Amino acid sequence: MRTIDDLGDELGGLRGRRVLLRSDLNVPLEDGRVADDGRIRASLPTIERLSDAGAITVVTAHLGRPKGKPVPQYSLRPVYQRLAELLPGRDVRFADDTVGDSARATLRVLPEGGVAVLENLRFDPREASKDDAEREVFAAELAALADAFVSDGFGVLHRKQASVYDVAERLPHAAGYLVLREVEAFRKVLQDPQRPYVVVLGGSKVSDKLGVIDNLLGKVDRLLVGGGMCFTFLAAQGHEVGGSLLEEDQVDAVRGFLDQAADSGVEIVLPVDVVVAAEVDEAATTSVVPATAIPADEKGLDIGPQTAQLFRKKLADARTVVWNGPMGVFELTPFAEGTRQVAQAVAEVDGTTVVGGGDSAAAIRQLGLDESAFTHISTGGGASLELLEGKTLPGLAVLEN
Ligand code: ADP
Ligand code: MG
Repeated sequence: MRTIDDLGDELGGLRGRRVLLRSDLNVPLEDGRVADDGRIRASLPTIERLSDAGAITVVTAHLGRPKGKPVPQYSLRPVYQRLAELLPGRDVRFADDTVGDSARATLRVLPEGGVAVLENLRFDPREASKDDAEREVFAAELAALADAFVSDGFGVLHRKQASVYDVAERLPHAAGYLVLREVEAFRKVLQDPQRPYVVVLGGSKVSDKLGVIDNLLGKVDRLLVGGGMCFTFLAAQGHEVGGSLLEEDQVDAVRGFLDQAADSGVEIVLPVDVVVAAEVDEAATTSVVPATAIPADEKGLDIGPQTAQLFRKKLADARTVVWNGPMGVFELTPFAEGTRQVAQAVAEVDGTTVVGGGDSAAAIRQLGLDESAFTHISTGGGASLELLEGKTLPGLAVLEN
Protein backbone atom coordinates (compact mmCIF):
# COMPACT_ATOMS: atom_id res chain seq x y z
CA MET A 1 0.00 0.00 0.00
CA ARG A 2 1.22 3.48 -0.83
CA THR A 3 2.10 5.72 2.09
CA ILE A 4 1.80 9.49 2.39
CA ASP A 5 5.53 9.71 1.59
CA ASP A 6 5.00 7.76 -1.64
CA LEU A 7 2.09 10.06 -2.49
CA GLY A 8 4.28 13.11 -1.91
CA ASP A 9 6.90 11.69 -4.28
CA GLU A 10 4.27 10.90 -6.88
CA LEU A 11 2.89 14.46 -6.79
CA GLY A 12 6.27 16.17 -6.61
CA GLY A 13 5.61 17.33 -3.06
CA LEU A 14 2.46 18.01 -1.04
CA ARG A 15 2.93 21.74 -0.50
CA GLY A 16 -0.16 23.60 -1.63
CA ARG A 17 -1.83 20.37 -2.73
CA ARG A 18 -5.35 19.67 -1.62
CA VAL A 19 -5.60 16.27 0.02
CA LEU A 20 -9.00 14.75 0.64
CA LEU A 21 -8.75 12.73 3.84
CA ARG A 22 -11.29 10.15 5.00
CA SER A 23 -11.09 9.84 8.76
CA ASP A 24 -13.19 7.97 11.28
CA LEU A 25 -14.41 10.66 13.65
CA ASN A 26 -17.59 8.85 14.69
CA VAL A 27 -17.35 9.60 18.41
CA PRO A 28 -19.97 9.64 21.17
CA LEU A 29 -21.43 13.08 22.01
CA GLU A 30 -22.99 14.18 25.29
CA ASP A 31 -24.85 17.51 25.55
CA GLY A 32 -23.43 18.53 22.19
CA ARG A 33 -19.81 17.91 23.19
CA VAL A 34 -17.40 15.10 22.42
CA ALA A 35 -17.57 12.55 25.26
CA ASP A 36 -14.68 10.31 24.13
CA ASP A 37 -12.11 11.78 21.75
CA GLY A 38 -10.18 8.51 21.21
CA ARG A 39 -10.89 8.34 17.49
CA ILE A 40 -10.11 12.04 17.00
CA ARG A 41 -6.72 11.60 18.68
CA ALA A 42 -6.04 8.49 16.60
CA SER A 43 -6.57 10.61 13.48
CA LEU A 44 -4.05 13.29 14.43
CA PRO A 45 -0.76 11.79 13.16
CA THR A 46 -1.99 11.78 9.56
CA ILE A 47 -3.53 15.26 9.73
CA GLU A 48 -0.40 16.69 11.37
CA ARG A 49 1.85 15.07 8.79
CA LEU A 50 -0.18 16.44 5.87
CA SER A 51 -0.35 19.87 7.45
CA ASP A 52 3.39 19.89 8.22
CA ALA A 53 4.06 19.03 4.58
CA GLY A 54 2.10 22.16 3.57
CA ALA A 55 -0.90 20.33 2.16
CA ILE A 56 -4.41 21.70 2.49
CA THR A 57 -6.20 18.88 4.24
CA VAL A 58 -9.87 18.32 3.53
CA VAL A 59 -11.16 16.10 6.33
CA THR A 60 -14.26 14.06 5.55
CA ALA A 61 -16.07 11.89 8.10
CA HIS A 62 -19.47 10.76 9.27
CA LEU A 63 -21.24 10.88 12.61
CA GLY A 64 -24.08 8.60 13.65
CA ARG A 65 -26.82 7.49 11.28
CA PRO A 66 -28.56 10.55 9.84
CA LYS A 67 -29.83 8.35 6.96
CA GLY A 68 -29.06 10.62 4.03
CA LYS A 69 -30.42 13.98 5.19
CA PRO A 70 -29.13 16.81 7.37
CA VAL A 71 -29.93 16.17 11.06
CA PRO A 72 -28.57 18.91 13.36
CA GLN A 73 -27.88 16.47 16.20
CA TYR A 74 -25.39 14.65 13.94
CA SER A 75 -23.49 17.74 12.80
CA LEU A 76 -19.72 17.28 12.86
CA ARG A 77 -19.27 20.79 14.27
CA PRO A 78 -18.57 19.62 17.87
CA VAL A 79 -16.05 17.14 16.48
CA TYR A 80 -14.43 19.93 14.47
CA GLN A 81 -14.23 22.02 17.67
CA ARG A 82 -12.42 19.25 19.54
CA LEU A 83 -10.14 18.59 16.57
CA ALA A 84 -9.24 22.29 16.38
CA GLU A 85 -8.34 22.22 20.12
CA LEU A 86 -6.05 19.26 19.45
CA LEU A 87 -4.32 21.09 16.58
CA PRO A 88 -3.18 24.30 18.25
CA GLY A 89 -1.40 26.80 16.02
CA ARG A 90 -2.99 25.47 12.82
CA ASP A 91 -5.71 27.06 10.73
CA VAL A 92 -8.66 24.67 11.14
CA ARG A 93 -12.05 25.58 9.70
CA PHE A 94 -15.48 24.05 9.35
CA ALA A 95 -17.61 23.90 6.21
CA ASP A 96 -21.28 23.40 6.86
CA ASP A 97 -21.81 21.34 3.75
CA THR A 98 -19.85 18.56 2.08
CA VAL A 99 -19.56 19.28 -1.64
CA GLY A 100 -21.37 22.63 -1.75
CA ASP A 101 -20.61 26.36 -1.65
CA SER A 102 -19.38 26.36 1.94
CA ALA A 103 -16.85 23.59 1.26
CA ARG A 104 -15.54 25.32 -1.86
CA ALA A 105 -15.36 28.74 -0.20
CA THR A 106 -13.53 27.28 2.82
CA LEU A 107 -10.95 25.60 0.62
CA ARG A 108 -10.36 28.81 -1.35
CA VAL A 109 -9.31 30.76 1.71
CA LEU A 110 -7.29 28.10 3.53
CA PRO A 111 -3.51 28.67 3.53
CA GLU A 112 -0.89 25.96 3.06
CA GLY A 113 -0.97 23.66 6.08
CA GLY A 114 -4.61 24.53 6.72
CA VAL A 115 -7.27 21.97 7.63
CA ALA A 116 -10.93 22.01 6.61
CA VAL A 117 -13.51 19.73 8.22
CA LEU A 118 -16.49 19.11 5.98
CA GLU A 119 -19.99 18.44 7.32
CA ASN A 120 -21.22 14.87 7.90
CA LEU A 121 -20.87 12.80 4.72
CA ARG A 122 -23.99 10.84 5.58
CA PHE A 123 -26.17 13.95 5.28
CA ASP A 124 -25.96 13.07 1.57
CA PRO A 125 -27.89 9.92 0.59
CA ARG A 126 -25.35 9.15 -2.16
CA GLU A 127 -22.52 8.48 0.31
CA ALA A 128 -23.90 5.11 1.42
CA SER A 129 -26.12 4.39 -1.59
CA LYS A 130 -26.33 0.78 -2.77
CA ASP A 131 -26.56 2.15 -6.32
CA ASP A 132 -23.04 2.27 -7.76
CA ALA A 133 -23.87 5.09 -10.18
CA GLU A 134 -25.26 7.32 -7.42
CA ARG A 135 -22.21 6.75 -5.25
CA GLU A 136 -19.88 7.43 -8.16
CA VAL A 137 -21.45 10.83 -8.83
CA PHE A 138 -20.92 11.81 -5.20
CA ALA A 139 -17.38 10.43 -5.28
CA ALA A 140 -16.67 12.54 -8.39
CA GLU A 141 -17.90 15.66 -6.57
CA LEU A 142 -15.69 14.83 -3.58
CA ALA A 143 -12.72 14.09 -5.84
CA ALA A 144 -13.17 17.45 -7.59
CA LEU A 145 -12.33 19.17 -4.28
CA ALA A 146 -8.81 17.73 -4.16
CA ASP A 147 -5.62 16.56 -5.91
CA ALA A 148 -5.17 13.36 -3.93
CA PHE A 149 -6.89 11.04 -1.45
CA VAL A 150 -5.66 9.64 1.83
CA SER A 151 -7.68 6.85 3.46
CA ASP A 152 -7.33 6.83 7.24
CA GLY A 153 -10.78 5.90 8.51
CA PHE A 154 -10.02 2.37 9.60
CA GLY A 155 -13.46 1.92 11.16
CA VAL A 156 -15.19 2.38 7.77
CA LEU A 157 -12.91 0.30 5.53
CA HIS A 158 -15.46 -2.53 5.49
CA ARG A 159 -17.98 -0.17 3.89
CA LYS A 160 -18.19 0.19 0.13
CA GLN A 161 -19.10 3.86 0.36
CA ALA A 162 -18.33 6.86 -1.84
CA SER A 163 -15.80 8.51 0.50
CA VAL A 164 -14.14 5.19 1.34
CA TYR A 165 -14.15 3.22 -1.88
CA ASP A 166 -15.25 5.09 -5.00
CA VAL A 167 -13.17 8.20 -4.39
CA ALA A 168 -9.97 6.13 -4.19
CA GLU A 169 -10.55 5.05 -7.79
CA ARG A 170 -10.57 8.67 -8.93
CA LEU A 171 -7.53 10.22 -7.26
CA PRO A 172 -3.90 9.33 -6.58
CA HIS A 173 -4.21 7.69 -3.16
CA ALA A 174 -2.40 6.46 -0.09
CA ALA A 175 -3.14 4.85 3.27
CA GLY A 176 -2.86 7.09 6.34
CA TYR A 177 -0.90 6.21 9.45
CA LEU A 178 -3.84 4.90 11.44
CA VAL A 179 -4.83 2.51 8.66
CA LEU A 180 -1.23 1.33 8.32
CA ARG A 181 -0.95 0.78 12.08
CA GLU A 182 -4.25 -1.14 12.28
CA VAL A 183 -3.51 -3.30 9.27
CA GLU A 184 -0.04 -4.17 10.56
CA ALA A 185 -1.40 -5.16 13.99
CA PHE A 186 -3.99 -7.49 12.47
CA ARG A 187 -1.52 -8.88 9.93
CA LYS A 188 0.77 -9.84 12.77
CA VAL A 189 -1.86 -11.81 14.69
CA LEU A 190 -3.49 -13.32 11.62
CA GLN A 191 -0.45 -14.30 9.61
CA ASP A 192 2.49 -14.84 11.82
CA PRO A 193 1.54 -15.22 15.48
CA GLN A 194 4.01 -16.28 18.13
CA ARG A 195 2.80 -19.12 20.33
CA PRO A 196 1.06 -19.85 22.58
CA TYR A 197 -1.66 -17.98 20.73
CA VAL A 198 -4.74 -17.25 22.85
CA VAL A 199 -7.99 -15.66 21.67
CA VAL A 200 -10.47 -14.30 24.21
CA LEU A 201 -14.00 -13.78 22.97
CA GLY A 202 -16.95 -12.24 24.76
CA GLY A 203 -19.59 -9.64 24.06
CA SER A 204 -23.25 -10.16 23.57
CA LYS A 205 -24.07 -12.41 20.65
CA VAL A 206 -22.32 -15.52 19.44
CA SER A 207 -23.98 -15.00 16.05
CA ASP A 208 -21.94 -11.78 15.62
CA LYS A 209 -18.73 -13.71 16.17
CA LEU A 210 -19.30 -17.01 14.35
CA GLY A 211 -17.14 -15.87 11.43
CA VAL A 212 -14.34 -14.91 13.81
CA ILE A 213 -14.44 -18.26 15.61
CA ASP A 214 -14.56 -20.07 12.29
CA ASN A 215 -11.49 -18.24 10.98
CA LEU A 216 -9.43 -18.33 14.17
CA LEU A 217 -10.17 -21.81 15.49
CA GLY A 218 -7.71 -23.34 13.05
CA LYS A 219 -4.95 -20.91 14.01
CA VAL A 220 -5.03 -20.62 17.79
CA ASP A 221 -3.85 -22.76 20.69
CA ARG A 222 -6.58 -21.68 23.13
CA LEU A 223 -9.95 -20.00 22.88
CA LEU A 224 -11.36 -18.47 26.07
CA VAL A 225 -15.08 -17.72 25.92
CA GLY A 226 -16.90 -15.35 28.27
CA GLY A 227 -19.58 -12.67 27.91
CA GLY A 228 -23.11 -13.34 26.77
CA MET A 229 -21.93 -15.80 24.14
CA CYS A 230 -20.62 -18.33 26.66
CA PHE A 231 -24.16 -19.40 27.49
CA THR A 232 -24.71 -20.77 24.01
CA PHE A 233 -21.50 -22.78 24.51
CA LEU A 234 -22.70 -24.03 27.92
CA ALA A 235 -26.06 -24.95 26.37
CA ALA A 236 -24.24 -26.82 23.58
CA GLN A 237 -22.62 -28.90 26.33
CA GLY A 238 -26.07 -29.69 27.67
CA HIS A 239 -26.29 -27.28 30.61
CA GLU A 240 -29.26 -25.15 31.65
CA VAL A 241 -28.49 -21.43 31.49
CA GLY A 242 -31.57 -19.94 33.21
CA GLY A 243 -32.48 -16.50 31.89
CA SER A 244 -29.01 -15.87 30.44
CA LEU A 245 -28.49 -14.74 26.86
CA LEU A 246 -28.94 -17.84 24.73
CA GLU A 247 -29.12 -18.12 20.97
CA GLU A 248 -30.93 -21.40 20.47
CA ASP A 249 -30.41 -21.32 16.71
CA GLN A 250 -26.63 -21.20 17.17
CA VAL A 251 -26.34 -24.19 19.49
CA ASP A 252 -25.62 -26.58 16.60
CA ALA A 253 -22.95 -24.32 15.13
CA VAL A 254 -21.30 -24.03 18.52
CA ARG A 255 -21.41 -27.78 19.00
CA GLY A 256 -19.60 -28.03 15.67
CA PHE A 257 -16.89 -25.70 16.95
CA LEU A 258 -16.51 -27.74 20.14
CA ASP A 259 -16.08 -30.94 18.09
CA GLN A 260 -13.66 -29.30 15.68
CA ALA A 261 -11.56 -28.00 18.57
CA ALA A 262 -11.51 -31.41 20.25
CA ASP A 263 -10.36 -33.03 17.00
CA SER A 264 -7.62 -30.51 16.32
CA GLY A 265 -6.29 -30.18 19.85
CA VAL A 266 -7.42 -26.58 20.36
CA GLU A 267 -8.37 -25.89 23.94
CA ILE A 268 -11.73 -24.14 24.37
CA VAL A 269 -11.98 -22.76 27.90
CA LEU A 270 -15.47 -21.96 29.20
CA PRO A 271 -16.49 -20.32 32.48
CA VAL A 272 -16.60 -22.54 35.55
CA ASP A 273 -18.57 -20.00 37.58
CA VAL A 274 -20.75 -17.01 36.76
CA VAL A 275 -22.10 -13.91 38.48
CA VAL A 276 -25.88 -14.06 38.31
CA ALA A 277 -28.71 -11.66 39.14
CA ALA A 278 -32.43 -11.55 38.54
CA GLU A 279 -32.19 -8.24 36.68
CA VAL A 280 -29.63 -6.29 34.66
CA ASP A 281 -29.45 -3.44 37.12
CA GLU A 282 -26.80 -1.31 38.81
CA ALA A 283 -28.43 -2.09 42.20
CA ALA A 284 -29.00 -5.80 41.52
CA THR A 285 -28.38 -8.38 44.23
CA THR A 286 -25.79 -10.74 42.79
CA SER A 287 -24.46 -14.17 43.61
CA VAL A 288 -21.84 -16.49 42.20
CA VAL A 289 -22.91 -19.95 41.04
CA PRO A 290 -21.22 -22.83 39.19
CA ALA A 291 -21.58 -22.43 35.40
CA THR A 292 -23.34 -25.79 35.38
CA ALA A 293 -25.94 -24.76 37.97
CA ILE A 294 -27.43 -21.43 36.87
CA PRO A 295 -30.83 -21.01 38.59
CA ALA A 296 -33.80 -20.91 36.22
CA ASP A 297 -34.89 -17.43 37.35
CA GLU A 298 -31.45 -15.76 37.14
CA LYS A 299 -29.27 -14.40 34.33
CA GLY A 300 -25.52 -14.86 34.00
CA LEU A 301 -24.10 -11.35 33.65
CA ASP A 302 -20.36 -11.76 34.26
CA ILE A 303 -17.77 -14.51 34.57
CA GLY A 304 -17.16 -15.50 38.19
CA PRO A 305 -13.95 -15.07 40.23
CA GLN A 306 -12.74 -18.64 39.68
CA THR A 307 -13.18 -18.21 35.95
CA ALA A 308 -11.28 -14.92 36.05
CA GLN A 309 -8.41 -16.76 37.77
CA LEU A 310 -8.60 -19.60 35.27
CA PHE A 311 -8.54 -17.18 32.31
CA ARG A 312 -5.60 -15.33 33.90
CA LYS A 313 -3.71 -18.62 34.11
CA LYS A 314 -4.52 -19.48 30.50
CA LEU A 315 -3.22 -16.07 29.41
CA ALA A 316 -0.07 -15.99 31.53
CA ASP A 317 2.25 -17.78 29.06
CA ALA A 318 0.68 -16.38 25.87
CA ARG A 319 2.88 -14.68 23.29
CA THR A 320 0.00 -13.53 21.09
CA VAL A 321 -3.45 -12.50 22.29
CA VAL A 322 -6.49 -11.28 20.43
CA TRP A 323 -9.29 -10.05 22.66
CA ASN A 324 -12.74 -9.20 21.39
CA GLY A 325 -15.80 -8.64 23.53
CA PRO A 326 -16.27 -7.85 27.23
CA MET A 327 -16.63 -10.72 29.72
CA GLY A 328 -19.82 -9.32 31.24
CA VAL A 329 -22.14 -6.34 31.32
CA PHE A 330 -19.17 -4.14 32.19
CA GLU A 331 -21.25 -0.96 31.86
CA LEU A 332 -22.72 -1.79 35.31
CA THR A 333 -20.42 -1.99 38.36
CA PRO A 334 -21.66 -5.35 39.71
CA PHE A 335 -20.78 -7.06 36.40
CA ALA A 336 -17.53 -5.30 35.47
CA GLU A 337 -14.98 -7.28 37.46
CA GLY A 338 -14.52 -10.16 35.00
CA THR A 339 -13.75 -7.75 32.17
CA ARG A 340 -11.34 -5.84 34.40
CA GLN A 341 -9.50 -9.03 35.39
CA VAL A 342 -9.19 -10.28 31.84
CA ALA A 343 -8.15 -6.85 30.54
CA GLN A 344 -5.43 -6.72 33.18
CA ALA A 345 -4.26 -10.23 32.36
CA VAL A 346 -4.08 -9.34 28.65
CA ALA A 347 -2.19 -6.14 29.50
CA GLU A 348 0.37 -8.18 31.46
CA VAL A 349 1.06 -10.56 28.57
CA ASP A 350 4.64 -10.51 27.35
CA GLY A 351 3.95 -10.49 23.63
CA THR A 352 1.60 -9.04 21.02
CA THR A 353 -1.83 -8.07 22.33
CA VAL A 354 -4.53 -6.78 20.02
CA VAL A 355 -7.95 -5.62 21.18
CA GLY A 356 -10.72 -5.49 18.58
CA GLY A 357 -14.33 -4.42 18.93
CA GLY A 358 -15.86 -1.11 19.87
CA ASP A 359 -17.17 -2.12 23.28
CA SER A 360 -13.95 -3.85 24.31
CA ALA A 361 -11.97 -0.67 23.63
CA ALA A 362 -14.62 1.34 25.48
CA ALA A 363 -14.34 -1.07 28.42
CA ILE A 364 -10.59 -0.50 28.66
CA ARG A 365 -11.11 3.25 28.79
CA GLN A 366 -14.13 3.11 31.10
CA LEU A 367 -12.29 0.90 33.59
CA GLY A 368 -9.41 3.38 33.59
CA LEU A 369 -6.85 0.82 32.41
CA ASP A 370 -3.56 1.83 30.86
CA GLU A 371 -4.08 1.78 27.09
CA SER A 372 -0.34 1.78 26.43
CA ALA A 373 -0.06 -1.68 28.03
CA PHE A 374 -1.65 -3.18 24.92
CA THR A 375 0.18 -3.55 21.62
CA HIS A 376 -2.84 -2.26 19.75
CA ILE A 377 -6.39 -1.22 20.56
CA SER A 378 -8.37 -1.06 17.36
CA THR A 379 -10.47 2.01 16.57
CA GLY A 380 -12.79 -0.07 14.41
CA GLY A 381 -15.51 -2.45 15.59
CA GLY A 382 -17.02 -3.90 12.41
CA ALA A 383 -13.83 -3.47 10.38
CA SER A 384 -11.72 -5.29 12.98
CA LEU A 385 -14.25 -8.13 13.15
CA GLU A 386 -14.21 -8.52 9.38
CA LEU A 387 -10.41 -8.68 9.37
CA LEU A 388 -10.55 -11.32 12.10
CA GLU A 389 -13.07 -13.20 9.97
CA GLY A 390 -10.46 -13.28 7.21
CA LYS A 391 -12.52 -11.08 4.88
CA THR A 392 -11.13 -8.62 2.36
CA LEU A 393 -12.21 -5.09 3.21
CA PRO A 394 -13.35 -3.08 0.15
CA GLY A 395 -11.70 0.09 1.44
CA LEU A 396 -8.36 -1.72 1.73
CA ALA A 397 -8.58 -3.62 -1.53
CA VAL A 398 -9.13 -0.38 -3.45
CA LEU A 399 -5.92 1.07 -2.00
CA GLU A 400 -3.88 -1.80 -3.39
CA ASN A 401 -4.51 -0.66 -6.97
P1 ADP B 1 -17.50 -5.61 20.92
O1 ADP B 1 -18.14 -4.28 20.52
O2 ADP B 1 -16.28 -5.41 21.75
O3 ADP B 1 -17.30 -6.50 19.73
P2 ADP B 1 -20.07 -6.72 21.54
O4 ADP B 1 -20.73 -5.60 20.83
O5 ADP B 1 -20.17 -8.06 20.96
O6 ADP B 1 -18.54 -6.35 21.86
O7 ADP B 1 -20.72 -6.87 22.99
C1 ADP B 1 -20.66 -5.87 23.95
C2 ADP B 1 -21.85 -5.98 24.86
O8 ADP B 1 -21.99 -7.28 25.40
C3 ADP B 1 -21.74 -5.05 26.05
O9 ADP B 1 -22.68 -4.03 25.93
C4 ADP B 1 -22.02 -5.96 27.25
O10 ADP B 1 -22.91 -5.38 28.18
C5 ADP B 1 -22.67 -7.17 26.62
N1 ADP B 1 -22.52 -8.38 27.43
C6 ADP B 1 -21.39 -8.92 27.91
N2 ADP B 1 -21.65 -9.99 28.67
C7 ADP B 1 -22.98 -10.15 28.70
C8 ADP B 1 -23.88 -11.07 29.33
N3 ADP B 1 -23.43 -12.04 30.11
N4 ADP B 1 -25.18 -10.91 29.11
C9 ADP B 1 -25.65 -9.90 28.34
N5 ADP B 1 -24.87 -9.01 27.71
C10 ADP B 1 -23.55 -9.12 27.90
MG1 MG C 1 -20.17 -3.74 20.01
